Amino acid sequence: MPRTVAVRLLLLGPPGSGKGTQGPRLADHCGVPHLSSGELLRAQVKAGTELGRRVASALGRGDLVPDELIVALMDEALTGPGSPEGYVLDGFPRTRAQARAAEDLLARTGGLDAAVHLELPDDVVRRRLAGRAAQEDRSDDDAAVVEHRLRIYHAETEPLLDYYRRRGVLVAVDATPPPDEVTASVVAAVDRRVREREVRQPGAGR
Ligand code: AMP
Repeated sequence: MPRTVAVRLLLLGPPGSGKGTQGPRLADHCGVPHLSSGELLRAQVKAGTELGRRVASALGRGDLVPDELIVALMDEALTGPGSPEGYVLDGFPRTRAQARAAEDLLARTGGLDAAVHLELPDDVVRRRLAGRAAQEDRSDDDAAVVEHRLRIYHAETEPLLDYYRRRGVLVAVDATPPPDEVTASVVAAVDRRVREREVRQPGAGR
């Protein structure tokens, strides 16, 4: 579908809900970059930067890194030199404090079109991540760490669903089917949102 405006989305969902698979596909479909906070952090760790050294142990334990660090990193990615007009944000914001900071940040970049919730029950999360731990070198997919990440998701991130629902931008998609089916649902839901926006504010953000 031809775009007259840059699309700005964020992905929400528990670990293993497919954000890392659906994010790049959705970004490709919309012609915008995929910005994953987890990937940005893992890249810092790999490169051995000062920030990477500060966050490495939190990542390994499955703990969240401090809000001010991630907000600064995402601020740079979203509004720094060469920053994109549209984006698919994945993994940020993850706490209420981050959502408040993001509101400011995202308003400066034109406001969100949709927050896409990839819905997945905990038992499916556990099964999927057990498979990923065996295949990929992600120590944060070990069983005990997965339980910890799930607890953090429910306590810190799940409240954001309500936050975005109240702002009228939440879109929920069932993430249990195979990846291609989920992609088709996400793309259909997002295209619908963007068409609605174009009817409401033709040419906005051009
Ligand atoms: P992800 O790839 O999104 O699952 O993120 C992997 C890890 O990076 C998380 O378990 C956290 O340790 C850290 N992380 C990613 N995004 C954030 C965020 N928005 N706030 C705090 N920590 C984050």
